[in-house]
Amino acid sequence: MKRSWWDNFTDCESAENVEMKRKKLIFYFSCYIGSFIIFVFASRHNGTDDPQLKTLLYSGGFVLFFTAALSHFINQFMVFATIAGLCVATFMLLLLMSGGFENTGLYWLYPFPIVLYVLFGHRYGILLNLLLFAAFCFLLYNPSYIKADYRPEEISRFLSSFLVMATLMFITEFFRFRSHEEMTKITNDKQKLANTDPLTRLPNRRYLDSVFYENATSRPDHYFPLTIIVADLDHFKRINDTFGHDVGDQVLVETAQRFSLFIRKVDVVIRTGGEEFMILLPNTEESQGFLVASKLCDHIADNTYEVDDMEIDITCSFGLSSTQSIARFDETVKAADALLYKAKAAGRNQVIAD
Ligand code: GH3
Ligand code: MG
Ligand code: MG
Repeated sequence: MKRSWWDNFTDCESAENVEMKRKKLIFYFSCYIGSFIIFVFASRHNGTDDPQLKTLLYSGGFVLFFTAALSHFINQFMVFATIAGLCVATFMLLLLMSGGFENTGLYWLYPFPIVLYVLFGHRYGILLNLLLFAAFCFLLYNPSYIKADYRPEEISRFLSSFLVMATLMFITEFFRFRSHEEMTKITNDKQKLANTDPLTRLPNRRYLDSVFYENATSRPDHYFPLTIIVADLDHFKRINDTFGHDVGDQVLVETAQRFSLFIRKVDVVIRTGGEEFMILLPNTEESQGFLVASKLCDHIADNTYEVDDMEIDITCSFGLSSTQSIARFDETVKAADALLYKAKAAGRNQVIAD
């Protein structure tokens, strides 16, 4: 699907970032705090006659700790989160099999389902939790496979409470995810509406000040050199006076469409005022921008507008200037405006650059 100007220029990732922050928080908490707790437990088993449990605790702790530590140096968070999630699942199984300290291992399994939901999302989270549940059932009802010695009533209570908890967590996660998605959509729609010109569906001046300016400030390498073209339809008032305001509106809509035909996906056309537009060409030298503006100028002048069976000829004047940095943005807009007025004074239907 073609991405709209909005998708290209807004920080649509911000909602996803919130989710990622939550994942990271749980990941680092499970890995660092989890490994610390495991080490404390492991050290308490020094000198006991359960070397298997001690090895399980120490190795689980080390794997978790190094997974988190490595993730700071290698930019593959999801890979490490998956490793950590699988470690947690393995650790749960081993803990159940070994019984932990004096067969109390089952109690330590309760905190982990939520970790799996956060790391893998609600869909894979429920899958993994149910797989673990099935494995728990198998192991607990086939005690020959495990070292631990659980009482029968303990087993049935544990399994039923674990299943209830994993299901409740799924419901909570599912609805949290849904409401997060809906809230993100509502906020995004409202923001889009506030930044869109209702007539032409182009971004408006608010978009320029809030979104474009911010993006160009935070990612200058994507934007500079930036060529700014300002355009103003010539004698537009006459169109309104001759054909009526509604026809004038249609001419504005078609002009917006014509401008959009000649630009790249990264460029943006803004309706800055009544019959005034601004075209922003990121990573474009002034000479290239001049060619774009000349093409637009010729296209508008050479192609008659057809609105409600009426043929309307109109021209447009352009001024353009370019800047290498955001610091000169306002100055460059003013320079382009001044050149537009020069184009008007010089007879209209032309492009004037610095
Ligand atoms: P110039 O060549 O000097 O730019 O002359 P002009 O007539 O285009 O400029 P002027 O500023 O005198 O008039 C602009 C006109 O644009 C006046 C206003 O009614 C009209 N206008 C502004 N917004 C809209 C709109 O949304 N729809 C319509 N149909 N007309 C609009
Ligand atoms: Mg004007
Ligand atoms: Mg005008």
